[in-house]
Amino acid sequence: MFESIYETMITKLPTPIFDKLAIIGIGLIGSSLARALRTAGVVRQISLYDMREDVRVRASELQLGEVCGDIGTAVQNADCVIVCVPVGASEAVAKAIAPHLKAGALVSDVGSVKGAVEKLMRPHLPQNVEFIGGHPVAGTEYSGPDAGFATLFEGRWSILTPPENANQDYVNILKVLWESVGAKVELMTTEHHDLVLAITSHLPHLIAYTTVGTADNLAKVTESEVIQYSAGGFRDFTRLAASDPTMWRDVFLHNKDAVLEMLGRFSEDLSALQRAIRYGEGDVLFDHFTHTRAIRRSIVQVESVKE
Ligand code: NAP
Repeated sequence: MFESIYETMITKLPTPIFDKLAIIGIGLIGSSLARALRTAGVVRQISLYDMREDVRVRASELQLGEVCGDIGTAVQNADCVIVCVPVGASEAVAKAIAPHLKAGALVSDVGSVKGAVEKLMRPHLPQNVEFIGGHPVAGTEYSGPDAGFATLFEGRWSILTPPENANQDYVNILKVLWESVGAKVELMTTEHHDLVLAITSHLPHLIAYTTVGTADNLAKVTESEVIQYSAGGFRDFTRLAASDPTMWRDVFLHNKDAVLEMLGRFSEDLSALQRAIRYGEGDVLFDHFTHTRAIRRSIVQVESVKE
C-alpha cells in the first residue's frame, strides 16, 4: 500500500527531486538523512554544514556530501534546506541562513518539537521561501555523524506540520522526499504533534531519566545488582536515559505546556495506583493492568494493519 502511493507520487516528479539539498547539523539525524538520500539517489547534490569543526572534518571523511566551512555557502542555491540541529538552536540557524536562501526554496527541519520551532524559525525567513516543519519519529540514544545510518528512517513515521496556508506542491515534494528514504508520512498541526509526542515520547523519556536517577541514588542497591537484574524493564529505561542531554533539555523547555499537561495527568494516575498498593486493592491493580494490556494489543494490531 505504502509502496504504491510512493510510486505514484514519485513518477509525477522529476528525478532528482532537488538539484541541491542542504543539511544543517551533521549529527545522528542529519548524517543519517545524508546517507539515506544518497542511497535513494533522489537529490543531485548534498551540501552539509555543522558549527563544530571536528564534525565537519568527520563528515568529509565519511563522504556524506559536500561539506562547507560556512553556513551561507551550504545553503546558497539550495532548493531545499533541512535543519537538523537541537531545537534550541533553530532560531540562530534561521537567522544565519536567511540572507543566503534562494527565492522559492523549501526550508524544513527534523526537530522533536514543532510549535516552538515554527515560531522560532518562520519570522526570520524571507517571505519568498516556504517553511514546513518535519519530525522523523526515528532515532537512537547515540549522537554525532558516526552514529548515523542510511536505514534509520525505513518503515518509521515522519510527521510533517505544514502551516494552514502552506503551498500544497511543497507539502507533496517534502512528503516524497521522506518517502524516498523509506519513511511513512503523516500530516498534522504543530499543536497536535506536540501533544501526541508529549505522551508517546517526551513523558516516557522523563520517566526513564527519573527512574535511572532514583536507582542511582539508592545506596542499598549496589551498582552490580542494578546491572545484574536490569533485564526486568530497567535496561530499557537506561537506554532511554542515555539519550542526548542537549536534545532532551531543549525538548522539555520547548514543549513545556504539553509535557506539563501530560505530567499532571500521569501524576494523578500514579497516585491512584499508589493508593491501590497502599490499601491492598488488588482488584484496582488487576483491572488497570488488564486495561493497559488491551491497549498494548490494540496498538500492535493497528501497527500490523497499517504495515
Ligand atoms: P546530534 O547528533 O547532537 O547532532 C546535532 C548537530 O548539530 C551537532 O553536531 C551540533 O553541535 C550541531 N549544531 C548545534 N547547533 C548548531 C548550529 N547553530 N549550527 C550548526 N550546527 C549546529 O543531534 P540529533 O540527534 O541528530 O538531533 C538533531 C535534531 O533531530 C534535534 O532537533 C532532535 O530533536 C531531532 N530528532 C532527534 C532524534 C533522536 O533520536 N536523536 C529523533 C528525531 C528527531 P553540538 O554538538 O556542538 O551541539
